[in-house]
Amino acid sequence: MPARILDGKALAARLRAEVAERVAACGFRPGLAVLLVGDNPASAVYVRNKDRAAEAAGIAARTIRLPADITQEALEREIMALNEDLAVDAILVQMPLPPQLDPRAAILRIDPSKDVDGFHPLNVGRLAEGRPFLVPCTPRGVMRLLQEAGCEPRGARALVLGRSGIVGRPMAALLLAADATVTVAHSRTRDLAGECRRADILVAAAGRAQLVRGDWIKPGAVVIDVGINRTAEGKLVGDVAFAEALEVAGAITPVPGGVGPMTIACLLENTLHAALARRS
Ligand code: NAD
Repeated sequence: MPARILDGKALAARLRAEVAERVAACGFRPGLAVLLVGDNPASAVYVRNKDRAAEAAGIAARTIRLPADITQEALEREIMALNEDLAVDAILVQMPLPPQLDPRAAILRIDPSKDVDGFHPLNVGRLAEGRPFLVPCTPRGVMRLLQEAGCEPRGARALVLGRSGIVGRPMAALLLAADATVTVAHSRTRDLAGECRRADILVAAAGRAQLVRGDWIKPGAVVIDVGINRTAEGKLVGDVAFAEALEVAGAITPVPGGVGPMTIACLLENTLHAALARRS
């Protein structure tokens, strides 16, 4: 029997509607500020989508456009002004930044209580402690998809493919906090196929088109494909060979339409979470 396809688009729409309801009930408009430096076209599209989704949920979204040649000092001044701004509950610095800027130093400037991406070391540490506050949006979206699949991480073997600070590491920490037995695989892992075959839950976030083949998947496993890769023909594909995996997995996310839409929905949830926490 082919795997169940997990519809991230539909789940994200439900989550966005839930956030909109909670915002309407909370009696104030949470504020999200997005700093967009330079004119990277992909970033501009992401930011526009975030902005629209936030406004549709009743969140007051503000995009601050800064010139590509801005200095580190001037960027950090902008961040600090947003830290002080009472109308702003959540701050996001859109990555990547132009090469003269230091993204880590910029993130360190964000007030951790407004760090909606969960990239500040304080929030990273809270997650590592197993006491998360603001958690990176993509791994958070993956946890919601697992829930939707009826997948219980407790006691399950989970394999996270990739160890970036944005996806792999926080993903592993969340699965561990949910009592899974977690393995993190990366570009230096020796027997990647063997590691994958043991996993009840496989989260692929390597950024390598169709790296994970059907025969790497344990029959019945839940497969979450975070990867977004463009083929030479211009088609978007994930890190998992979808057609092959469909015949083996128990449930699987498509690309596009799986994890991607969940990331923005979780950004809205995080914004509301930050806003409520600041007022409690
Ligand atoms: P990254 O390049 O920072 O990290 C990739 C990780 O994969 C590294 O830890 C590396 O060691 C590992 N890796 C690379 N090639 C490998 C190989 N051949 N075998 C084993 N491990 C390998 O990327 P990232 O920022 O974590 O993003 C990963 C993918 O997820 C990308 O395709 C990105 O576009 C996508 N992504 C999607 C969303 C979303 O909303 N759906 C959000 C963020 C990232």
